Amino acid sequence: MIAVEIIGGLFAGPGASDYLGEPVAIGVHMLQAGALAEAADAEDPLVAAALLHDIGHLTWERDDEPRAGLGGSSSRAGSAGDRHGEAGARWLSQWFGGAVTEPVRLHVAAKRYLCATEPGYLGLLSAESVRTLVWQGGPMKPDERAAFEALPHARDAVAVRRWDDAAKDPAVAPPGFAHFAPLLAALVRA
Ligand code: FE
Repeated sequence: MIAVEIIGGLFAGPGASDYLGEPVAIGVHMLQAGALAEAADAEDPLVAAALLHDIGHLTWERDDEPRAGLGGSSSRAGSAGDRHGEAGARWLSQWFGGAVTEPVRLHVAAKRYLCATEPGYLGLLSAESVRTLVWQGGPMKPDERAAFEALPHARDAVAVRRWDDAAKDPAVAPPGFAHFAPLLAALVRA
């Protein structure tokens, strides 16, 4: 299955060495998120979404990504900080349907949504997540919240977001990519 081999190559290559200011490599982070989704008995497409939520960081030019304090704020609310979600979803859409790609696309928006709707959520975020929140547009405004809630995969995106936030523990050794390969292979469109 070529798609699964390509994705596995990203986990083994850049994913193994890339850190986004978090205590674990991005590949380990995504494997932890996938394992948390699996432990929560999520449907297979949602496990895949959790596993692949940050793949956009590994498939596009990181130099395009604005950084806090470097003039990275966007005039269109959220657009700049959403790009790794958008990029990941677009890249994954060559093989997977919306039940996988939409939570990936929306997982940054889900952080902004939770910051606006859940008292205390901000306090659970890693320092890096708080830092990036600013150029991602900050907590959602009421009209943005309503628009987000109306999206078909909003709840799935929020679920991915919670696993994302919990998947930064250097003491946790997640299963390897091979553990998830059959699940991914079964989800690839014919
Ligand atoms: Fe993440």
